[in-house]
Amino acid sequence: MKSPLEAPEKQIAEETSAKPEKPAASSVIDTSKMSKGQREALELAEASRDPLDDRGSFASNLFVGRYDFNRIHPYPAQSAEDQAAGASFLQKLETYLREHVDPDEIDRTGEIPPENFEGLAAIGAFGIKVPPQYGGLGLSQFNYGRAAVLLGSWDGNVAALVSAHQSIGVAQPLLLFGTEEQKKKYLPRVARGEISAFALTETHAGSDPATMSLKAEPTPDGSEFILNGEKLWCTNGVKAGVLVVMARTPPKMVNGKERKQISAFIVDVATPGLEITYRCRFMGLRALYNAVVRFTDVRVARANIIAKEGAGLKVALTTLNTGRLTLPAACVGVSKRLLEISRKWAGERIQWGVPIGKHAAIAGKIAEMAGNVFAMEAMTFLTSSLLDRKSGDLRIETAMCKMWATEMTWKIADDAMQVRGGRGYETAASLAGRGEPPISVERFLRDCRVNTIFEGSSEIMRLFIAREALDPHLKVGGAIFNTQLPMSDRAKAVFTSGKFYAGWYPRQWLPARPGKIDNLHSDLAVHVNYAARTSKRVARGLFHAMARFGPKLDREQLLLSRFVGIATELFAISATCSFAEHLLGQGKPSDEILSVANYFCRSARLRIGNHFAGARRNADKRGYQLTQDLLADKHAMLRDGIVK
Ligand SMILES: Cc1cc2nc3c(=O)[nH]c(=O)nc-3n(C[C@H](O)[C@H](O)[C@H](O)COP(=O)(O)OP(=O)(O)OC[C@H]3O[C@@H](n4cnc5c(N)ncnc54)[C@H](O)[C@@H]3O)c2cc1C
Repeated sequence: MKSPLEAPEKQIAEETSAKPEKPAASSVIDTSKMSKGQREALELAEASRDPLDDRGSFASNLFVGRYDFNRIHPYPAQSAEDQAAGASFLQKLETYLREHVDPDEIDRTGEIPPENFEGLAAIGAFGIKVPPQYGGLGLSQFNYGRAAVLLGSWDGNVAALVSAHQSIGVAQPLLLFGTEEQKKKYLPRVARGEISAFALTETHAGSDPATMSLKAEPTPDGSEFILNGEKLWCTNGVKAGVLVVMARTPPKMVNGKERKQISAFIVDVATPGLEITYRCRFMGLRALYNAVVRFTDVRVARANIIAKEGAGLKVALTTLNTGRLTLPAACVGVSKRLLEISRKWAGERIQWGVPIGKHAAIAGKIAEMAGNVFAMEAMTFLTSSLLDRKSGDLRIETAMCKMWATEMTWKIADDAMQVRGGRGYETAASLAGRGEPPISVERFLRDCRVNTIFEGSSEIMRLFIAREALDPHLKVGGAIFNTQLPMSDRAKAVFTSGKFYAGWYPRQWLPARPGKIDNLHSDLAVHVNYAARTSKRVARGLFHAMARFGPKLDREQLLLSRFVGIATELFAISATCSFAEHLLGQGKPSDEILSVANYFCRSARLRIGNHFAGARRNADKRGYQLTQDLLADKHAMLRDGIVK
């Protein structure tokens, strides 16, 4: 029997039948008019990008009007066996956090006590996904996500320690790309609690790794590399025993052009020449062990390269494709906790004769939090389950979860502070000092702010999702506009894309068929039908934008970000409906489930309406010009009268 998660083959064959043979990545984007820096960044990113499967995924297909609810409905719930496999560890983790981890003390001192490192190691928290044969617990992504919810709900610092260690540190890239020797050597160490970290960022290489300068030169016999340079903001670096380090290896000639190479190395911190020169401190996550790491003639064996020489950026991007799902799971924990704090306070605090939750302005904030918490959990755990089931390429889903959940959590933290009023702004210690419960909304707010910056900033997530959204169109028609290609290739592309769009475009105006939804509650079916219709509208909108802007569309970041915003909300609506139906099937109170799901879907539809309106009428061009003027030192009055 066919799995409900598989796309209907016939439909896909139908919609891809007119597509031309696959062009090379380099031929789909014209880089000839870009600056050298832009071109290098883009070429490196394209060379490191794995092509998307033609079947796409549920979320990537939203951009081409191919809405297939059957891929996420019935909700891919956690199986009873998987739940049982994680239960004992999750119980231990919950008890350990409550009884032995003091988040306010960690925040105040800026240190996680050594006994917490030992205690977490003892229950297996540093090897959650590492298979038992390498000394870990061997739990699923779903159970790992549930652990992240617990950690996020309690302490951001410990959550970041555990997550950086195994979501992006040595464990994840080795699980994906490591050789058996590498796994045998390093996974037992990190699973036991030897801390690991991921070092990509440098002073001049933040969102743009192509500008990385840390060099790895091969020794004359090629058996080793010598690393020189410096890494910035390496989370866990201060405590780590082993790092994954991205470094530039000698360039290679590709199609007659020199191409920069980045390779990923496993580096023991004890290697001579490696120094932790500085511990960085931040607004929140005050106990993050975040380091500047200097490399002076650090010798690393060739055997310590992950995957192969030159595949470093691919290792980093693929690691993050899964690794960045930990953050939204932690955000579920933070958001649930803040909702709970706000809910209680809104019922207790009397002002103007009634509890503040009776004032519509506060009630609106709490309802929004509740809807967003429900959707965040639905999206994150749907994606986790699909990852566990190896249901194809989920890079769009994980990026959407990361972007949406981190932004919503920041909004929830901001609203929770407003609901708590002055008490939200007061520290836990100060509240306790005058006899009130030490509720740390301000700590949660400080700690969660960075989530929209690291592991792919929100802006980069939007670019990343937009790139994948445009991919089917670039494959079909990108060559037309690519002045770097011979005229014959471009003429051929005009013909093949004309044939493709003659079939595809009219279909975007036909009524949407969301898949099998007759077993869905009628309230939810309304939203799913809306999502199916709107997916076609997004596809048409993107096509119209391409026709209007041609190859310059990739520069229309704000316009593209609206389409990304719409598709992300459609994913959230769809996941919410599937999750809600699953809960109804489990006998959960239908009035409660439907009210929160309906509220969320209605709110998301309003946001989608705003995105569409913004795509039609906006002040983007004027805003862009205003900023260029400001950068050129105009508008001096905006700098008048302040202390500089
Ligand atoms: C607390 C903390 C922990 C971290 N941990 C790690 C770690 O463990 N390992 C590691 O390697 N790194 C780590 N980082 C680095 C983090 O990943 C980077 O901060 C992030 O990649 C952004 O780089 P940047 O700060 O240099 O910002 P920049 O790249 O300078 O960007 C500044 C702003 O411009 C935007 N921007 C940049 N390029 C574009 C573009 N093309 N289009 C639109 N907008 C753009 C960005 O989104 C951002 O808003 C950490 C950072 C912090 C603060």
